[in-house]
Amino acid sequence: MTKDKVDILIHGGPVLTLDVEDHSYENGAVAVRGERIVDVGPADEVKARVDAGETKTLDARGAVIMPGLVNAHSHVAMTIFRGIMDDVPLEKWLDRIWELELAYATAENVRAGTELAFAEMIRGGVTAVSDMYWHRDVTTEVAVEVGFRLHDGPAFIDFEGPDGIKPENRLRLAREYIERYQDHPLIALGVQAHSTYSVPQELLDQCRMLMEAYDIPFVTHASESATEVKTVQEKFGKTPIELLDDLELLTPNTLLAHGVHLRDDEIELLAERGSTVVHCPESNLKLGSGVACVPEMLAAGVNVGLGTDGAASNNDLDMWGEMRTAALLHKGVREDPTVVPSLDVLRMATSGSAKAMGLADEIGSLETGKRADIILVDLDSLHATPVYDLGSHLVYAANKGDVRTVLINGRLVMRDRELLTLNETRVKNAVRKARAEIAS
Ligand SMILES: [Zn+2]
Repeated sequence: MTKDKVDILIHGGPVLTLDVEDHSYENGAVAVRGERIVDVGPADEVKARVDAGETKTLDARGAVIMPGLVNAHSHVAMTIFRGIMDDVPLEKWLDRIWELELAYATAENVRAGTELAFAEMIRGGVTAVSDMYWHRDVTTEVAVEVGFRLHDGPAFIDFEGPDGIKPENRLRLAREYIERYQDHPLIALGVQAHSTYSVPQELLDQCRMLMEAYDIPFVTHASESATEVKTVQEKFGKTPIELLDDLELLTPNTLLAHGVHLRDDEIELLAERGSTVVHCPESNLKLGSGVACVPEMLAAGVNVGLGTDGAASNNDLDMWGEMRTAALLHKGVREDPTVVPSLDVLRMATSGSAKAMGLADEIGSLETGKRADIILVDLDSLHATPVYDLGSHLVYAANKGDVRTVLINGRLVMRDRELLTLNETRVKNAVRKARAEIAS
């Protein structure tokens, strides 16, 4: 029998696949060829099947091999505004942030903020992000350079934003962007509108048209705060969810960020439509927006992803902190330790988020045929000793500092805590320079 040649063989530790059947292997291995996983299973079986002759081997002793975390909602370049506006409500926060963006969300600053965000996320074991921000061409260029998986796409608004795109040119440029990146291995596409209260309905119709024409996800913020729901109800006589459904924008290809203020019948509707809610608990807590009904959503069968939101409302891009908050928050609020168990949280941060970005078949678990977005997480630190249950351990004890090695699309982007595609000092200096401009 001829054996398959592979490029990278990862072995020496347990493998947590987070696939639908929750396979895990105490002494496992994952084989990668090119951009994809070609084998996963018990180490002796994988080694017997692959030709490891000239293969690069990654030693995972003392670590767990698992899928990269997927941050399903962020405004990546907002790292430049980290900590600029804290302890105020969403509406006041947004007014100030929009002012700041018009002045400072330049292409140069977006590049600096994006590079820092990707470095921060790679260090924290995040291998993909869904972004909504200005200058998406810059963000996309950086993602391609760094080797980071990006879900992005044109955003519709009826004014000229800091990216200088005139409203009459948005549709043409949207099509150009989509067609340019349609087959890119690292770029997943979407079409975006900030929210139902900030974007006119004719532009939401354009979003639907593009979503259908290109079969890509529609992304929006929905029912984030009680004030938002009230504003939309006063304006249109409907809640954001009702309005989106009337516009035929609730589909299996819909990513709704937040979903904090949902009625029970709206949760049922989202389950029926197959839409995703991306839970952003820390941003919701920090802005005092409320606590999303995640136990009800999970019980109803709504797909739930997990996101950090932007660094100006969190204030970091740490998916480990987000997972732990998501796991703890609902237990405390409900006085019920059985809700939102650790495995559900891991699924939100991997396959749930992957589905939200239209990448259910590509990432979110370690399976043969999927893209090789893989992380090695140390189990050797004091706070991580001992381990009884890997899932519980990763959610309740591990943290971003435990991430040792990161592969995205089959490429090593961090090895033994050394970033391989970004210069950390340069990245920090560029953001400090932006800070000096913004603070002056
Ligand atoms: Zn957001």
